[in-house]
Amino acid sequence: MREMGGGPRVLLRRLRELMAEALEPQTRLDRIVREIAANMVAEVCSLYVLRADSVLELYATEGLNPGSVHQAQLRLGQGLVGTIAASARSLNLSEAQKHPAFAYLPEVGEEAYNSFLGVPVLRAGRTLGVLVVQNRTKRVYREDELEAMETTAMVIAEMIATGDLSRLTRPGLELDLTKPVSFNGLSFNEGIGLGHVVLHEPRIVVTNLFNEDSDQEIRRLETSLSSLRLSIDDMLSRRDVAAEGEHRAVLEAYRMFANDQGWGRRLEEAVRNGLTAEAAVEKVQSDMRARMLHMTDPYLRERMSDFDDLANRLLRQLMGRAPDDVAAALPRDAIVVARSMGAAELLDYPREKLRGLVLEDGAVTSHVVIVARAIGIPVAGQMKGAVSMAENGDAIIVDGEEGIVHLRPQPDVEAAYTEKVRFRARRQEVYRELRSRPSVSKDGIKIDLLMNAGLAVDLPQLSDSGAEGIGLFRTELQFMVAATFPRAEQQERLYRDVIDAARGRPVTFRTIDIGGDKVLPYFKNSAHEENPALGWRAIRLTLDRPGLLRTQVRALLRAAGGRELRLMLPMVTELGEITQAREIIDKEVRHLSRFGHDLPTILKMGVMLEVPSLLFQLDELMAAVDFVSVGSNDLFQFVMATDRGNTQLSNRFDPLSVPFLRVLKMIADAGERCGTPVTLCGELAGKPISALALMGVGFQSISMSPASIGPVKAMLVETPINELKMFMEDNLAGTSAQLPMRALLHAFAGDHGIPV
Ligand code: PEP
Ligand code: MG
Repeated sequence: MREMGGGPRVLLRRLRELMAEALEPQTRLDRIVREIAANMVAEVCSLYVLRADSVLELYATEGLNPGSVHQAQLRLGQGLVGTIAASARSLNLSEAQKHPAFAYLPEVGEEAYNSFLGVPVLRAGRTLGVLVVQNRTKRVYREDELEAMETTAMVIAEMIATGDLSRLTRPGLELDLTKPVSFNGLSFNEGIGLGHVVLHEPRIVVTNLFNEDSDQEIRRLETSLSSLRLSIDDMLSRRDVAAEGEHRAVLEAYRMFANDQGWGRRLEEAVRNGLTAEAAVEKVQSDMRARMLHMTDPYLRERMSDFDDLANRLLRQLMGRAPDDVAAALPRDAIVVARSMGAAELLDYPREKLRGLVLEDGAVTSHVVIVARAIGIPVAGQMKGAVSMAENGDAIIVDGEEGIVHLRPQPDVEAAYTEKVRFRARRQEVYRELRSRPSVSKDGIKIDLLMNAGLAVDLPQLSDSGAEGIGLFRTELQFMVAATFPRAEQQERLYRDVIDAARGRPVTFRTIDIGGDKVLPYFKNSAHEENPALGWRAIRLTLDRPGLLRTQVRALLRAAGGRELRLMLPMVTELGEITQAREIIDKEVRHLSRFGHDLPTILKMGVMLEVPSLLFQLDELMAAVDFVSVGSNDLFQFVMATDRGNTQLSNRFDPLSVPFLRVLKMIADAGERCGTPVTLCGELAGKPISALALMGVGFQSISMSPASIGPVKAMLVETPINELKMFMEDNLAGTSAQLPMRALLHAFAGDHGIPV
């Protein structure tokens, strides 16, 4: 006997029993709609499921014409059901026919019904279908009935998400949740990754939907809510946070939400209706997301992300976060999909299982992107909506070359990418073979190919890439991925590991280059800067905070005891800065020597050439230092007055243009004239065509990301450098070049069979 009525608790209990039974999906759905109709004393209960072609198909009904199941269809936005799906809001109507959106479907036979209650079937804010009950009488459904429907809809969402209903889909059609989607965003790190989705946030881990004992579950919820509130209070009372404006504002918002009565009440209500505390958090959050999805106010949307974050924290409290379990359950080809992520969080994933990273936000300069680049995984960013469209375990492709992501790709797309990956692997094989060959040009000129690094995770690349040393070690990365200033011993340990790993190959340590776009969360400039790239950064900052520089220099000197130490100063503008830094370094040397420490056998000091003022004092500069390294990323931005992080300008001006190449030639010539070694360590060194240009203007040493060494070496061994130099000289000297320099370089490469 079916019970009539009985309220949400009874309904959920019946649903739980139905979910536990071994039933065919269609039978299960049929029984579910029958249960709902009976429980709500409704004559009709129907379920519509959203297909990938944006059509809502009737999947099950109690009360309407059974022959219309899998036949009746509505477009998204059409009729009441289509309106609910499109707006993700429920409709509760006592006279459905009077609603302007009402559309009559003759095949289902619903003319006799007046009242109508429809709720969206939601998952993570996305509509997957619509659940409806109808009655002949003109009635308004009660709040608790609406609540029961929403909860049932959540169970159905779980069935859809787990693929339970896919088998009911006609061949050639797919459910919306399983359809292939592509996202166009930005490329943050090149490479191609094929694998399976791992959502960074744990929302989907909620699989236990029904509670056994509401009172006990409410106690769990309350305990977790209180510890969440306490942890926020705790964060707020910490001294470092108390001093921070922005941080504090976010945490204040968290505290407000965490104490929000409405939130607490909605959570409790959902648990009273039979959900577990986790499922209640998920449900309330999903309703909220659906409502916010249509909001355009950026401030409110940002608050929604805060709220999301808070709900995730609560889930973690409830489930007891166990990162080890997450790591163990990770697929072998994990592609992590996240809204945004802290740099250190990426390092929590085991590297050998990571195939790529997809971010909804982010920028090339985000810390997590810097780390991803360091460990060599493809990254695509600005992928709006990727998190809500993806489910754990979905097949996914990250195209880091084009900045495209294919979620649940069609077989032909997957095949094309598999071929691309194979092609890349074959090329890597060629580069591997080149590794042991000397880096000498076709006409016998030796060029030093060095790599850029900044974290301990980079070190294995030294031997894998065949680099002859580290031309630029960005020491600030250790500071950027840390939560607080790394202590002197931590710095020293890293520097020592780096020198050990280099096994006698040269390593150039750049002193901490923060400020500009490299922000430390725990050390912000309190003054507002109109132009941070031109502001208080790098050597300017460390000369004003000599304690920072002293600690670092001491750590470097100690780490390099008994070996060579190469130090490099970033963003030098005038020679006086070199003198000042040298005084600090000398003082540290004297200090260590007084206490009998082992000192470096040789100490070489160089500068980064990034600020154009140095171009007008090149001879003095070359005489003042042991070496110079051109930071072409910054030098180009300052010579061309073009923000390096502005994507609107990223392809507007070409570094391989006559003026910039003349600048580079001027520097290389000055180095040669003065007998001072010159290197270049910006991104320009890593592309074969631009590395060709650099050799053509006289650079004999360049430093790049490890992945670029192979392609650049493949270019080098085929290049007759002396001939190239003459070619460049002719074209750079002329006052009216016929073709752009880039085109001329490509023509030269083509004529000489040089792979670029
Ligand atoms: C540069 O400016 O070219 C450089 C290598 O430094 P960074 O990219 O770290 O600013
Ligand atoms: Mg720079």
